[in-house]
Amino acid sequence: MQKHLISSRLRAVKPSATVALADRARALAAAGRDVISLSAGEPDFDTPGHVVAAAAGAMGSGFTHYTNAAGIPELRQAIAQKLSRDNGLAVEPGKGILVLPGAKQGVAYCCLAFLDDGDECLCPEPSWVSFRELVTLAGGRYVPVPTRVEDDFRLRPGELERHVTPRSRMIILNSPTNPTGKVWSADELEEVAAVARKHDLIVLVDEIYEKILYDGRKHVSLASLPGMFERCLTLNGFSKAFAMTGWRLGYLAGPPRLIEPLLMLQQHTATCAVSFAQKGGVAALEGDAAACDAMVEAFRKRRELLMDKLAGVPGLAIWRPQGTFYMFLDVRGSGRSSMEVSEHLLENEGLAMTPGDAFGECGQGFIRLSFAASESVLIEAARRIESGLRKLTGKRG
Ligand code: PMP
Ligand code: GLU
Repeated sequence: MQKHLISSRLRAVKPSATVALADRARALAAAGRDVISLSAGEPDFDTPGHVVAAAAGAMGSGFTHYTNAAGIPELRQAIAQKLSRDNGLAVEPGKGILVLPGAKQGVAYCCLAFLDDGDECLCPEPSWVSFRELVTLAGGRYVPVPTRVEDDFRLRPGELERHVTPRSRMIILNSPTNPTGKVWSADELEEVAAVARKHDLIVLVDEIYEKILYDGRKHVSLASLPGMFERCLTLNGFSKAFAMTGWRLGYLAGPPRLIEPLLMLQQHTATCAVSFAQKGGVAALEGDAAACDAMVEAFRKRRELLMDKLAGVPGLAIWRPQGTFYMFLDVRGSGRSSMEVSEHLLENEGLAMTPGDAFGECGQGFIRLSFAASESVLIEAARRIESGLRKLTGKRG
């Protein structure tokens, strides 16, 4: 029998398209190419000053050692208050919150904790690239449930339940959604909740973009719907709302029966989140929200700018994002695949964006643009998209 260096679990996993493409764009730029990268979802703003000051002060005063594995009590307290205030959730800070070294780690923990080999995890697609791979790494079976732009990315009636089998254990739901920018309404969430209750499934609810909303939309937490708190793991983090991607700080919240088992995974892998980053997290949650509001306002303006600049580009249709800083551009009119358009734009126009099929098969024919970049960069990016699509479609300007 042939021996493999790499485990079969890891061999089943694909690289992260979002991270890989961002790395490729950075390498091209380092080699002197004029490349604009709108591939990774990462706010381009600085972390608010009061958050940096809190972490720097903690570091300076020697707060540089391991902390309690579940997170420092004052951060768990601040998270519990935030969940009560913003999300209508009553979470026990002692047993119902796990502070994480990044929200991504929380997805990995949940897959390892709640899926046995062959257990199924349903996920509406298009969806963020890491869900599928982390389910697979844990030995689970990832079951995509497609949504379509023609339906405003709503699940078709009965579509979620049609994918439930006796092996179904978990649903992963991400609202606002990366990569489409869709915000799930209370009615849509109730449809998911009904399936979870009926088939006794747990739901990992990824709310990392909850603060980035447009047009007066409201974020609703699935765990706040009747009977749902007991079966929901609410995932959130500091990366997007507070421009803290490099700090690696996130959290999971839920009933102690679901949160406590995850602590062992943290003890054996990360030990705890970075000590002084946790102090920064307290400052972020308790401090002035003006800097965050200003970031959301800037994202809103950029969305308008792009909608305007990209209107009328041949081969392109745009679904107006309701939240997040992503646009899922429909390039099916170009007659090319996601990968062909994405490669063409990178090679010929120096513009990196993530091919839509990285977010699931139903993302074929789309490319994801992250508008977490300055207005001048976005204006130039729009010019490159237009130039690239004119060449691909043979339509001159
Ligand atoms: N969930 C979604 C939907 C994301 O887009 C990201 C982006 N990285 C994460 C989770 C992970 O965030 P973090 O930086 O906290 O690991
Ligand atoms: N979540 C961001 C994205 O989708 C950052 C990269 C990643 O973690 O996938 O681009």
